[in-house]
Amino acid sequence: MDLRLDPEDAALQERARAFTNAHLLPHEDELEELGRLPEASREAIKAATRAAGLGAINHDREDGGQGFTLFQQILVQEAWGGATGNLWGVPWTPSRPLRAGTAAQRARYLRPACRGELSDAYAITEELAGSDARMVRTTATWDGHAFVLRGEKWHVTGGDLAQVLLVHAHVDGDPEKATVFLIDRDRPGLRVVRVPRYTNVSAFEHPIFALDDVRVGPEQVLGAVGEGDELTKEWFVEERFMIGARTVGAAARALELATRFATERVQFGQSIASFQGIEFQLADMAAEIMAAKSLLYRVGWEASHGTLDRKAVHAMASAVKLVCSEMAGRVADRAVQIHGGRGYMREQPVERLARDLRVDRIWEGTSEIQRVILGNELRKRGPALFLGWPGASAPIAQPS
Ligand SMILES: Cc1cc2nc3c(=O)[nH]c(=O)nc-3n(C[C@H](O)[C@H](O)[C@H](O)COP(=O)(O)OP(=O)(O)OC[C@H]3O[C@@H](n4cnc5c(N)ncnc54)[C@H](O)[C@@H]3O)c2cc1C
Repeated sequence: MDLRLDPEDAALQERARAFTNAHLLPHEDELEELGRLPEASREAIKAATRAAGLGAINHDREDGGQGFTLFQQILVQEAWGGATGNLWGVPWTPSRPLRAGTAAQRARYLRPACRGELSDAYAITEELAGSDARMVRTTATWDGHAFVLRGEKWHVTGGDLAQVLLVHAHVDGDPEKATVFLIDRDRPGLRVVRVPRYTNVSAFEHPIFALDDVRVGPEQVLGAVGEGDELTKEWFVEERFMIGARTVGAAARALELATRFATERVQFGQSIASFQGIEFQLADMAAEIMAAKSLLYRVGWEASHGTLDRKAVHAMASAVKLVCSEMAGRVADRAVQIHGGRGYMREQPVERLARDLRVDRIWEGTSEIQRVILGNELRKRGPALFLGWPGASAPIAQPS
């Protein structure tokens, strides 16, 4: 088994790391201090993204993306994940389901989005519909001329910057007709209800939107009526891998910072790294990152090389998201502890990492929901799905 990166992937990993160091990390402090990313900084990052060939890493070349494999995207997002304040979201990654658009929709939305000239946001969650998307109450009713959308969408990440929202609604209020609509931001009836404050300082907001009788023609349906669940699932699977990648990158940075601090900080006449109480924490952090990263790379590689069926990829994406995000939460918390009082200061990257990483156990399906998905697959396909790698899938005979 050769686990080395091939030269192309190794070069990409290096390029993404250099980009993060040169173009994301320098904006962390101003973002934290101002509470927002200045427009000039956003534009500078976008220009650097273009120059580095890292825009739309999740789309095909024919659509204007980079044509990267899932594994290559993981390498890039892992590097980006080291940046605090959600700066990883400034290099654009248009929602993957935009690929399902008609030729006209792709020309109008996907291609400009891949060029970084238009941004989108994906709106599923509502006040009463979170983990259970079937409880979505946003309706789309055909009135003979147009679909009329009515409802409210919560936590719409990037909604402050988006020119188009992908709105998950139920046609005629029927969950079997879950459908994604492309709603232009300037469409009459689409309005921001409020922009809540969240735990971290972020390069983008998560507004609540209301749709007050927003009228759109059938040409604004993405895919087909009733295909909404499938499209949304595709979005979730991709996002779960990318959360896995970013949280591994964030945890690695937390370990680097904690190791350096522990080595330099002297108390009781010696470096605190020489105390076993600190050293064991660092050791646990390193071992846990190794374990999560191994899972991420293995599953990402398999999903990229077609050795897993679609359902297996879905289940594995949940395992990756669960393991990596929970690991990163523990690692960041220990990094704060090792920094002592400094670990509680907002000017310290470890403090910001701990704040940033909390949401990774919540969004794109909470840790509990990832376990529900894994439990379902265990019931349906048995442990071999998870344990049969690389090849030992036959169950061990149990004594009768
Ligand atoms: C910063 C941020 C950005 C977000 N961005 C977006 C976005 O861009 N688009 C979007 O559509 N949504 C977005 N979300 C919403 C996010 O995906 C939801 O918050 C998440 O899916 C959980 O839904 P909920 O908040 O309604 O919690 P609930 O579903 O009400 O869950 C509450 C608690 O119950 C638990 N729970 C629920 N069901 C089960 C079960 N079956 N078994 C065990 N425990 C269960 C949950 O794990 C959780 O702990 C975002 C959220 C945040 C905080």
